[in-house]
Amino acid sequence: MNQHQNPSSPRRALVIGASMAGLFATALLRKAGWSVDLFERSDVELFGRGAGIVTHRELLDALVESGANIDQLGVAINERIAIDKNDQVIEQLHYPQIVTSWDRLHQLMRATIPGGHHHLRCNLQSVEQSASGVTARFSNGRVEKADLLIAADGYRSVIRDIYMPDVQPIYAGYVIWRGVADESAMPKSARDMIFDKFAFFLPPNNKIIGYPIPGQDHALERGRRRYNWVWYRPVDKETLETMLVDETGAYHPVSIAPPKVRQDLIDEIRRAAKAQLPPSFSDTLMAIPRPFFTPIYDHFSPQMVFGRVALIGDAASVGRPHIGMGVAKAAADAQELANVLRDPSVPVEQALEKFEKHRLDVGLKAVERGRTLGEYLLMPQHADNAPHDPHWEEFHSVHGILKNTASSDFLKAH
Ligand SMILES: Cc1cc2nc3c(=O)[nH]c(=O)nc-3n(C[C@H](O)[C@H](O)[C@H](O)COP(=O)(O)OP(=O)(O)OC[C@H]3O[C@@H](n4cnc5c(N)ncnc54)[C@H](O)[C@@H]3O)c2cc1C
Repeated sequence: MNQHQNPSSPRRALVIGASMAGLFATALLRKAGWSVDLFERSDVELFGRGAGIVTHRELLDALVESGANIDQLGVAINERIAIDKNDQVIEQLHYPQIVTSWDRLHQLMRATIPGGHHHLRCNLQSVEQSASGVTARFSNGRVEKADLLIAADGYRSVIRDIYMPDVQPIYAGYVIWRGVADESAMPKSARDMIFDKFAFFLPPNNKIIGYPIPGQDHALERGRRRYNWVWYRPVDKETLETMLVDETGAYHPVSIAPPKVRQDLIDEIRRAAKAQLPPSFSDTLMAIPRPFFTPIYDHFSPQMVFGRVALIGDAASVGRPHIGMGVAKAAADAQELANVLRDPSVPVEQALEKFEKHRLDVGLKAVERGRTLGEYLLMPQHADNAPHDPHWEEFHSVHGILKNTASSDFLKAH
């Protein structure tokens, strides 16, 4: 019998990290009959992380199963378009999808967790396991014991570092510049051209994409929404190091917080946009008060389960954002966990082995597909020289990029 299991008390799980993976795991394990406590190191409720999130069937399923109300989830779009430098449409694809924001998803999922089980200011420091349970120690002195611990602590997971210290994020060789523009601040010409669509501009070795998302207070009314603007740009490692230095000269390893991105870099991206992008995208950038950049990394942990500890979401693996399904993958990890852990007669370790067997391959496929889609940014642009290269056609032609970006179709076999 597990440490906390007796006929009258449910088994207990500790979930570390209260972002998307942690919220889904908490909601779904509760529904599967577990007593769950969620611990987050942040002092305040999470807000404003990331911006646009493209949804997929897998994510919608998990939201509904978690008990979240998805009536007003986001903005429904029907079409993907690619435009040229003069704002002429060069390719169109019918592709209905709901696009939303990280904040909107967080608000919906946060509402599924009762206050008494959601704990801020709890920074996990160490984990110990015995035959009957797991013990978590936090830097504020708190000690918690349970039958199971879920590591939902993100791509720089301290828990993964304990068990798989060699797995580290790998720099992809490019960054994304991004930001959100208020719909009302965009010039009419740009709104008319790209606002209601998932729009792409694809010059060699660069990808510029954009789509509408809910506005302040999750508003969905016309005029109050926002536009999520993203520019993938190759940046070599040495240049990246210089970009990670803020105005005070402090260096930020791995990634830099948006408010710390230097003004000279912002001025440069605005100049480059004016010279290189179609008016709809460059004018939209001018309506973004403070764009920022994020270096792109990926990683894959070949193991997700360590006794009574399971890695989920970004802690387990991160595919580059071309696939646009980090939240969907985190949610599906949590769904699978809840499925295998529903039956109290199955020992935790045995259930987790089944979980890993089902989810490891999905993580690997997501990482591989993200890398394939990222080739466009770094490879010599040989489409004209090799028009019949099937790999190029499938993933890097304009049609291929429209079809495969932010699509979960590659998981259909699962
Ligand atoms: C540029 C970009 C664009 C993206 N676009 C999309 C998209 O369109 N669609 C999509 O589905 N996904 C997208 N993603 C990915 C998505 O944001 C993540 O995959 C998703 O949020 C899952 O994250 P997570 O909950 O696993 O980890 P995180 O969001 O990183 O959360 C980890 C949490 O753990 C907490 N934590 C860390 N260490 C500790 C500790 N020791 N103790 C307690 N708490 C701790 C952190 O504070 C944090 O709150 C994008 C990502 C990027 C970078």
